[in-house]
Amino acid sequence: MSRSAHPAGPRHADVWPEGHYSAPPADLNALDPKVWAQTVTRTGTGEVSVGGIGVAALAEEFGTPAYFVDETDFRARARAWRTAFGHDADVFYAGKAFLSRAIVRWLHEEGLNLDVCSGGELTTALSAGMPADRIAFHGNNKSTDEITQAIESGVGRIVLDSFQEIVRVAHIAQSLGKRQRVQIRVTVGVEAHTHEFIATAHEDQKFGIALADGQAAEAVRRALTLDGLELIGIHSHIGSQIFDMAGFEVAARRVVALLAAVRDEHGVELPEIDLGGGLGIAYTSDDDPREPHEIAKALGEIVTRECEAAKLRTPRISVEPGRAIVGPTAFTLYDVGTIKPLEGLRTYVSVDGGMSDNIRTALYDAEYSVALVSRTSEAEPMLVRVVGKHCESGDIVVKDAFLPSDLAPGDLIAVPATGAYCRSMASNYNHALRPPVVAVRDGEARVIVRRETEEDLLRLDVG
Ligand SMILES: *Cc1c(COP(=O)(O)O)cnc(C)c1O
Repeated sequence: MSRSAHPAGPRHADVWPEGHYSAPPADLNALDPKVWAQTVTRTGTGEVSVGGIGVAALAEEFGTPAYFVDETDFRARARAWRTAFGHDADVFYAGKAFLSRAIVRWLHEEGLNLDVCSGGELTTALSAGMPADRIAFHGNNKSTDEITQAIESGVGRIVLDSFQEIVRVAHIAQSLGKRQRVQIRVTVGVEAHTHEFIATAHEDQKFGIALADGQAAEAVRRALTLDGLELIGIHSHIGSQIFDMAGFEVAARRVVALLAAVRDEHGVELPEIDLGGGLGIAYTSDDDPREPHEIAKALGEIVTRECEAAKLRTPRISVEPGRAIVGPTAFTLYDVGTIKPLEGLRTYVSVDGGMSDNIRTALYDAEYSVALVSRTSEAEPMLVRVVGKHCESGDIVVKDAFLPSDLAPGDLIAVPATGAYCRSMASNYNHALRPPVVAVRDGEARVIVRRETEEDLLRLDVG
């Protein structure tokens, strides 16, 4: 069907207006399994369900907007990573993608480790029973209190991010009478093909110590002389939402080259390397993410090959997927409010949330999909922009998508793949109440993070 042939919805004389979208999907009622969580399906009535519960009942019980996480899918993805990397490697879930105590328990039960990057994340992890030695502590500006808390609680590793931090962590460890296991985070000089704000291994940014100019080698030299530190390895994280394995190959090669240089200079073979996270997921049907077993195989082969060439023992590998585990497991459910057709442009569909529950579209120009989930429709597709209720014209949830042209206030729509970096980046802008996270599994739904209340807002406002 040509774009100009659509009779319904606002349309241009000849073409759909400019945007990220391609043509409307052949079937607006279809749910692409690439972007929806495993147990999401349409029931006989046309309503969408997750974990065996229909969205109307979920909206009725928990309200909207709300995030629904498919626990079966989360556990399956965690397990797939664990299994793919086997016993010679460790999988650290990146807690910043989304962290709650239930998530920590699921990870613990599925045999994963955990990355944290603040005192708050560390406290959450410990309070839910994650053993400290399975926690890695990250961050480019850890406070003295955070470093002390991490060392006292016995975290398995601290990832050192600067020359000052090498000294600071060594000093605090020593004053606590401890020797802290650490890795040094290096920037390998790779430009990941992703948005600038989420690419982290090129040199002009705040994270890590550059391999170039021998800086990382100097960091190793210093760390090896300090009694408070046990240097166990080198860490590299090249960015996020990456599909191309080439960046990881270059990173692995350069990290192994550093291990060889360290061996040559100090006679020490560092036993571990961490290749970070950043594996992409499908936000729309156009994205084709890699499976964990493909990633594990590719990384394992590169590291083994490079180590053989350098005559090094193969180090223990760790990886840190966040988005790739939690991202696809959740969707955000919204109630449709105002619908505003703009002739020749598109139809603006306002929902009861917005940039306070999903900032990624405004922040990174992220793309999302959307579907009508409370019913099916045979109406013609209309080009829509799903927007929130905040006082910003940039308050966009889904920039370009198609919904049926009979969409009406009171319909429920859902945005899939919102498990990562949505609730964890949620704000109270306009004194919005941050939505709950509800876990659904085998016909049961339970709140794992409750909805904020106006009392919560007033409790902080002590003036
Ligand atoms: C953000 C981050 C991750 C996780 O990134 P994803 O894109 O969610 O996989 C892993 N490691 C480090 C150091 C990070 O900063």
